[in-house]
Amino acid sequence: MTAAFPPDRPNPPDLVPFAEARAGVLERLSPLPVREVALTAALGCVLATDVAAAEDLPPFANSAMDGFAVRGADLTGAGEDHPVALKVTGEVFAGTGRLPTVEPGAAARIMTGGALPPGADTVVPVEQTSVDGDTVLVRLDPGPGRFVREAGEDVRQGTVVLERGRALDPAAIGMLASVGRRNVPVHPRPHVMVVSTGDELVDPGEPLGPGQIRDSNSWLLVAQVRAAGADALRCDKLRDDPKALRRGFALAAAEGDLVLTSGGVSVGDRDYTKQVLATLGDVRSFKVAMQPGMPQAFGVAAGTPLYGLPGNPVSCFVVFETLVRPGLRRLAGHPDDRLDRPRVVARLGEPVRSPAGKVSFLRVRLEVGDEGLVATLTGNQGSGVLSSCVAADGLAVVPAEHRELPAGAAVQVVLLREDLAWVAR
Ligand code: AMP
Ligand code: MG
Repeated sequence: MTAAFPPDRPNPPDLVPFAEARAGVLERLSPLPVREVALTAALGCVLATDVAAAEDLPPFANSAMDGFAVRGADLTGAGEDHPVALKVTGEVFAGTGRLPTVEPGAAARIMTGGALPPGADTVVPVEQTSVDGDTVLVRLDPGPGRFVREAGEDVRQGTVVLERGRALDPAAIGMLASVGRRNVPVHPRPHVMVVSTGDELVDPGEPLGPGQIRDSNSWLLVAQVRAAGADALRCDKLRDDPKALRRGFALAAAEGDLVLTSGGVSVGDRDYTKQVLATLGDVRSFKVAMQPGMPQAFGVAAGTPLYGLPGNPVSCFVVFETLVRPGLRRLAGHPDDRLDRPRVVARLGEPVRSPAGKVSFLRVRLEVGDEGLVATLTGNQGSGVLSSCVAADGLAVVPAEHRELPAGAAVQVVLLREDLAWVAR
């Protein structure tokens, strides 16, 4: 039997294994209710139903080239030395609706995308012809049916063109337009409210006083949320004051599909966040057996799921990538096998250490070596050291049972950047 998640006591002494935390978060979240959205707003959303083509694509047989629509049988044996003369009896442009009939021995001028006129079954590209008055000389037998795009050759009416669960990318949007859809049922992009807490925090652009630091987490988290395809709003930062925290969290919970807060979830004297959250709903704090990122809180506050992330910026970053992002993607309707970032296997370029009983996520750079990918640490792995995050291509995963791994050991690496997907091949 697995333990309750979040744990049913505040701050239990036991660490929650990483896999249990991940599964527990996912279990508490479900895809946002389906909504019909305009195609212009659908990019990145997840399709909620299969979409079948209401019409053939293309809707009618048409020309793949600028040239002449002909009867293929008229050109049997045509060649450089035996040009065939046909009488030009009409013209078809893309968009022409009233079509000339092509009689035996005749041809119609046709442009790319023009509908194949009755009688014709073949197109001769203009480059293979010469025109003399109302006669066209054809120097090649293209073969019957050449350069014609048949009705429905791309998609037949009734065929499923996109399946439920598909994240709508540009090609999918183009296909939806091609089969006549203006609106599609999707799981909407989650709307995430991001709140920083801490008396020491100052916004970029403001002077730094003694003892103060920049609020980096709210900017970081908003960017991570957006990079994951959801919408984010950065709320005013909250002071370490129970009243201000209660008001701020309640407002955020009322507005968003998910609230992310950082700081105040560990055991410091002014870490009121977890106490306040407990009064707003079923939100509990706990420690996950991971490094960085141990202290966390999760639950439902005023009807809205809320994740309390640790204050140290790298801890905040790593917890978002490994635990919050899969949950956010679940809200957005992504299928179970597409919640996590892709992983690759790499060999360690140097020995690494990892605390006993915790899974470590190490910031690494990836390089292609003679025997595959090599992962090397990007520098100081302290949980406040953002520069080693900036340099990282991925997070190397050292499982909880290892206290150290030698150079050359194979590790999984969570890819942090989409432009690195090539290394997965
Ligand atoms: P806390 O959990 O609130 O005690 O915060 C742990 C550490 O993270 C402290 O050094 C805080 O100053 C730092 N921290 C908390 N919130 C932020 C933030 N929004 N941006 C940068 N650092 C933060
Ligand atoms: Mg704090």
